[in-house]
Amino acid sequence: MEGRRVIGWAARDSSGHLSPYSFTLREPGPEDVVFKVLYCGMDHTDLHQMRNEIHSTNYPLVPGHEVVGQVVELGSDVKKFRVKDIVGVGCIVGSCGECLSCKSNEEQYCNNRILTYNGTDKDGRPTQGGFSSAMVVHHKFVVRIPEKLAPEQAAPLLCAGVTAYSPLKQFKGFNKALKAGILGLGGVGHLGVLIAKAMGHHVTVISSSDKKRVEALEQLGADAFLISSNTAEMEQAASSLDYILDTVPAVHPLQSYLPLLKVDGKLMLVGVAPKPLQFDSVDLILGKKTISGSLIGSMEETQEILEFWALKGLTSMVEVVKMDYSNQAFERMERNDVRYRFVLDVAGSNLE
Ligand code: NAP
Ligand code: ZN
Repeated sequence: MEGRRVIGWAARDSSGHLSPYSFTLREPGPEDVVFKVLYCGMDHTDLHQMRNEIHSTNYPLVPGHEVVGQVVELGSDVKKFRVKDIVGVGCIVGSCGECLSCKSNEEQYCNNRILTYNGTDKDGRPTQGGFSSAMVVHHKFVVRIPEKLAPEQAAPLLCAGVTAYSPLKQFKGFNKALKAGILGLGGVGHLGVLIAKAMGHHVTVISSSDKKRVEALEQLGADAFLISSNTAEMEQAASSLDYILDTVPAVHPLQSYLPLLKVDGKLMLVGVAPKPLQFDSVDLILGKKTISGSLIGSMEETQEILEFWALKGLTSMVEVVKMDYSNQAFERMERNDVRYRFVLDVAGSNLE
């Protein structure tokens, strides 16, 4: 790693097109972990950010926040890892450490969180993500990948997995079988199905078409499948769900989904809609319903979901691709043509 020059793939403008980009990593300090990137999951948020759809994107932008790597160097104060360990990094690489959120182990809600990419590092330089050959990250934001998990399987858990796990965790250990709805069967949604099933819930997938029915029921183990445009089916399912995890990355009519909830039911938004969503207040008031949001998960929850996955022997559905396929993969993601998460084989790709 001479001069710590690395090669990543970056978007240069809001077209989002990725191409090779050479840059330097920050000098590691005593609390940092330096690792070679092995695999990196591809998240719809990457696409939102590459296209400047969320908040202002600084270009060049190297995306990637589901990063699995192998430790090559450790700062002198880092005791929890050894060289060669397989480690993971999710969506954030820093926070203030002092605010209420940080003190209550919810550092993802710290106003001074540092995003893994499109953030500003402590040295004032832009952070760059896991679509690159190596990274330097403070050890507090690095998790251990359990030995039982294949690295390409672990990658999607670092953002998509913990994004589903964090809001669902509140229902863990309920003694009655809860009725769950997973809205949108993509990267986050398919992991949501597996997690909710592993927690013992009855799971209904709510999808925009019939295309994923067989996989949802037979491979992911969902109990029921609803097509959101089928009014009769939706009416029949009214007042049947305790919660809905909404993963849709687009503007969609909440008034179609709120009636599916029982009294006191919760619609938990994790999908980022590029424009404001609308709902009818009466739908909430008459049924004491709640709409809430949730951002990824804490570092503690990130480690928890990895252990949960290993313990329950779960398998996510991934399609492993090389870096030169990344632009095509994002196009397919946009066309809703991925089963269910692309994972980049970064170490096995020619990045030049
Ligand atoms: P994805 O793989 O593209 O999946 C999204 C799914 O939503 C699609 O598979 C599709 O499922 C459904 N969908 C897509 N377009 C739709 C439309 N116009 N109307 C209705 N349904 C539609 O995306 P992802 O990586 O899972 O991410 C999902 C969203 O969560 C993104 O907005 C992403 O930015 C966000 N996210 C948020 C967090 C957080 O911390 N809150 C973390 C990670 C990701 P069907 O075919 O079943 O309809
Ligand atoms: Zn803080």
